[in-house]
Amino acid sequence: MAPTYSLVVPVYNEEEILQTLYQRLCGIMERLDGPVELILVNDGSKDRSLQLIRELRHQDKRVAYISLARNFGHQVAVTAGLHYARGQAVIILDADLQDPPELIPELVEKWKQGYQVVYAQRTVRHKEVLYKRVAAYTYYRMLQRLSDITIPTDTGDFCLLDRRVVDVLNAMPERNRYIRGLRTWVGFKQVAVPFERDPRFAGERKYTLGKLLGLAFNGIFSFSRVPLKISTYLGLVSALVALVMAGMVFYWRVFQSDSQFTGYATILIAVFFLGAVQLIGVGILGEYIGRIYEEVKGRPLFTFSELEGFNQSNPSPLE
Ligand code: UDP
Ligand code: MG
Repeated sequence: MAPTYSLVVPVYNEEEILQTLYQRLCGIMERLDGPVELILVNDGSKDRSLQLIRELRHQDKRVAYISLARNFGHQVAVTAGLHYARGQAVIILDADLQDPPELIPELVEKWKQGYQVVYAQRTVRHKEVLYKRVAAYTYYRMLQRLSDITIPTDTGDFCLLDRRVVDVLNAMPERNRYIRGLRTWVGFKQVAVPFERDPRFAGERKYTLGKLLGLAFNGIFSFSRVPLKISTYLGLVSALVALVMAGMVFYWRVFQSDSQFTGYATILIAVFFLGAVQLIGVGILGEYIGRIYEEVKGRPLFTFSELEGFNQSNPSPLE
C-alpha cells in the first residue's frame, strides 16, 4: 500500500544520532493518521551510518533507504529522497534533531487545511554562536532583497510538501539545487509554522564552512541576476571617477601652472582600481557561466549504490 506520509532524512556521518532519531520519529509515526515511510538517504557517510540504516530497515519495514555512491551534499541528498518518496505528503527534516519531529503533526494539520507547502520558520536558534546568527540574519534578508521571488527569511529545509509540489520539483532538471528557493518558486498555497530550533543532538556539524558558503552563493546566483548588474554599476562608477580626475588635471594644468600633479601614486591607484573592477566583473560572469556549464553537461544529479525498500523501482535519477 502506498504510504500517505513520507519522511525524508539526509544522513551524513550521523552514527551517534540515528538510533535516537529513529525512536523520536517512531513516536511521531504512530501519531500520524495514515501509513508512513521513513526514507533515509545516506549521503556517502564514512562512519557506521549505512550499517545502522541497514539494521533499522531490517527491524522495521517502514524504513526504506537510498545510499548515494559518494558524498553529494545535503541538497542533492534531499532531492534523491524526494525522487523516491511515494507519500501524499512529504516531510523533509535534518537527521540531527535540530528540526524537532514533534512539529510534524502541526505541519500535517496545515496540510489538511489545504496548504501545499508548509515550511517551518525559526524564531529562535538555541545555542548557536553569535557570528552564525548574525550571518544568517543578514544573509536571508539580503537574499530576499536580491532574488526575483520572495524567499521567506529564516527557513531551512524543514517542511512538508504536497504530492503535487514534489512532482513539480522532481520534474525540474536544475542541478544547482537550492531547495528552499525552488520550493518558493513553485508557488501553490504556502504557509509558515514558527518553531524554535534546537541545538544539534550530538556530533559535529556536517556543513563545513565551504559547503555553507557554497549553499549561500547558490541561493543568490540561482535566484538573482542582480550580481550581473553590479559590474555594470562598478563600471559606471569608475568611469565617473576617471572623468572627475580628468577634470581636476585639466583645471590644475590650465589654472594652476605651478601645481605638481603627482604621478606614480595616482596612476597606481587607478590601475589597481580598474583591475579590481574588471576582476569582480569577470568573477561574477564566471559564476553564471559555471552554472550554465553544469546544466548543459547534463550529468545525472546523483548516483547510488544501494536502494532498499522501494517496490516500484525508479532507476533513473533525473536524467
Ligand atoms: N548532510 C548531508 N550531506 C552533507 C552535509 C550534511 O546529507 O554533505 C545532512 C546532515 O546529516 C544533516 C543535515 O544534512 O542531516 C544538516 O546538516 P548539519 O546539521 O551539519 O547542518 P546545520 O544544521 O549545522 O546547518
Ligand atoms: Mg544541523
